[in-house]
Order: sequence, then structure tokens, then C-alpha cells
Amino acid sequence: MQVLPHVYVMHIDDGAAFHPGGSNNYFVGDPAEAMVLIDTGDQHREWTQRILRYYEELGRPSINAILLTHSHHDHIGGLDRVYEVMPAPVRCHPKLVATLQTMVEKDAVVPLQPDETVITGGDVAVQALFTPGHEVDHVSYYLADERVLFTGDCILGASSTTVRDLMSYMQSLELLTRYPHETICPGHGPVVPPPRGAELVRWYIDHRRQREQQVLAALSKGLGTVEEITREVYPPDLPAGLRRGAEQNVATHLEKLTKEGRLDETPARYRLRH
Ligand SMILES: [Zn+2]
Repeated sequence: MQVLPHVYVMHIDDGAAFHPGGSNNYFVGDPAEAMVLIDTGDQHREWTQRILRYYEELGRPSINAILLTHSHHDHIGGLDRVYEVMPAPVRCHPKLVATLQTMVEKDAVVPLQPDETVITGGDVAVQALFTPGHEVDHVSYYLADERVLFTGDCILGASSTTVRDLMSYMQSLELLTRYPHETICPGHGPVVPPPRGAELVRWYIDHRRQREQQVLAALSKGLGTVEEITREVYPPDLPAGLRRGAEQNVATHLEKLTKEGRLDETPARYRLRH
């Protein structure tokens, strides 16, 4: 489906509980000239076939680059088979190069420079923005002409995301606010058009800050473990499938507060049984 003059989305309902609203792969550029592909989906055969079928529907445009957002399997899993059909340079964060070199020809994988611009058909310029946090090797992409951010798993369309390093994640969100945009094209969940698309990054920042306040309030009540704080901060009827993600998020808040020197962490102790 075409969502903007140079943006085409291949949406698939993969039914994953931790990112409701399915998943997306994007073709960006001019199908009559050339395009880039953003992300290659999971290794599931059906997902790869859907990407390739959509590529056929677009008229098999020449592909200038396969751009990856990060190392998680639902973004790079289909790379080897997609590359067979579209043998274009595979571009990614420098920390992801070695992994991808085991999936395609070594020379095909070319690390991105921070803020590097990749040019494709229709005079389209896609800029790579390094946005670590969800994962250390996360890259978002920016199409200034159409005021759109491709946010991978940094910002999702229908839920909040999991974060490995909250301090760098918050810096990445602040970075995204500096690139004027109206539409968010996320890795999962629906495309978020204006006016909400322009607000979403700020909403994510506020949401995390609120969560931090809740974690601090729980700590001030004397709650001191990830499980206790999660029970206090999240709704009691949180589905079991989401509880682990919630606990992980609380843990990242505690790590961030510890790094900032606002918390003391008491290590777990071991004692012999009698
Ligand atoms: Zn993902």
C-alpha cells in the first residue's frame, strides 16, 4: 500500500503479543526508477514470500540498498532470501555488520556512517539516524521531503516498546524530535499519520518520564525488587505474555536511575543452606 508519494508499506499480521498491530516492511523511492527496502522480516517463509510478492507488484524496481533497523530476528531473519532476489548493498549499524556477513556475501554488507544519506529513485534521500536503546545497533531512517520517520522498534504504532538501555533510548528519542516529521512509519503497528504522527515521539518521552516517576514513588514506599515494583506500577490484570516485558522495562528504569547515581543497588546475596 502506498502511504506517501515515495513510501510503500508491506504490512503483515504476524500475531505477536509483544508488539500488537502486526509488522511492516517499507519500500521507499520511485518504483519506476529505484527504491530501497527497509528491513527484511522474520525468517518465516510466508513473511519472506509476502515481501517478494509485493516487490513483484511494484514491478521489480531496481534496489539501491537494503536498509536494516536492528539485529532482532524479526527484522533481519529474511535477509538471505531477500538478498538472493535483490542483491543490493546491505546497510546497517557498524555493530551489526559481522552478524549480517554470515547471512550474505561479506562484501555486500556496508556499515552506515551516523547521519549518512542514502539516495534512491525519485530523487529521494533517506538519512540514517543512529538511535540506540531498544538495541545497541538500532538505526532509524528519515525522509525529510515527506516529513517521515522510519522508527524500526524505537517507536511503535500501537504499543510502547522494550528497551535495553534506557539512558541511550531517551537520548535517541530527543534526537528524533530534532528532525521535523508528521508521519511515523514503525516496524510494528500501523503507520501513524498526522496529526498524531507529529506528537508520538514526544508522547513516548512523556510516557517514560511518567513511568520513572511511578518507579520512584514505588521505591519511596520501600518496594525494592523488580517484581514488587512491576506489581505496583502496572495494572494487576496485565496478560502473562506482557509481564516479562513490563519487568524488563522496570529493570531498565532501575539501571538508568542507578547510572545517574540516584539509587543504591544491593547485590543479591548467597547463603549456604543448613
Ligand atoms: Zn521488532
